Amino acid sequence: MALQITGKNALVTGGSRGIGRAIALTLARAGANVVACHRRDGDAVDSLARELKGIPGDHHVIRADVTDPAQVAHLVEECRTRLGGLDVVVNNAGVISHVPYADLPEDEWHRVIDTHLTGAFTVIQKALPLLGEGASIVNIGSRVATVGIPTRAHYTAAKAGLVGLSRSLCKELGGKGIRVNVVEPGVIETEEAAKLPPEKYAQLQARYQALTSLGRLGAPDEIGDVVLFLASDLSRYVTGATIPVDGGI
Ligand code: NDP
Repeated sequence: MALQITGKNALVTGGSRGIGRAIALTLARAGANVVACHRRDGDAVDSLARELKGIPGDHHVIRADVTDPAQVAHLVEECRTRLGGLDVVVNNAGVISHVPYADLPEDEWHRVIDTHLTGAFTVIQKALPLLGEGASIVNIGSRVATVGIPTRAHYTAAKAGLVGLSRSLCKELGGKGIRVNVVEPGVIETEEAAKLPPEKYAQLQARYQALTSLGRLGAPDEIGDVVLFLASDLSRYVTGATIPVDGGI
């Protein structure tokens, strides 16, 4: 039987699409009650809500921008009133941005840092009163935090910052029995990648197939499965870890 975390309450940010959607659905299918947040309304949100409705449990899809502390406070309050508390917090919300460093506008730097790093800071700080012994915080980083990548200095800095935040927090919260870990995806095939023109998509696949030991891109639910492990008590002695999930780049 697949790993179950029945009755745990989980918050997943950026749950409407891609990796966040897979994480939300994986945790829900494993028996968790899930609150997934998103920034914009649309088909992706409706589709997630429909899918969650078909899975037993107390699930909610709530609009909240992680860069707005008031909206995060509202989101966490909803977790408290609807679920009664939280056991798992997954900071996944993210934005993609490619700009050469010399041309990087200051507001784009801030947009990326605010979403990936300050967003995680805000969500964790506001969720802390709801977290107790055995709780698990999972921050979705990126393999680029270790290896670097051109045109993504702002993104890489944010993801590297997330690792530092997690390592310090694991020490600060360890005494309360709260674990903090980072999952670093490699190249994951989300709906966005599949929307590329066929020629570009084939190029992307060929490039990353050659880069990985397993010879393929990752699937969103392969990140979801590692998050499920970190959310579960099977990982009860794992904290301060940074786990690459990249097919062996
Ligand atoms: P997507 O662009 O497919 O989805 C991003 C999600 O985050 C959406 O649900 C989006 O909601 C949400 N979001 C964005 N900004 C905010 C915000 N300010 N507040 C709340 N929600 C927000 O991204 P991926 O699934 O590809 O990536 C998910 C995470 O994984 C990111 O942190 C990314 O950096 C990381 N990652 C992804 C890799 C990949 O190959 N895909 C590789 C390495 C790391 P909305 O649609 O409403 O904007």
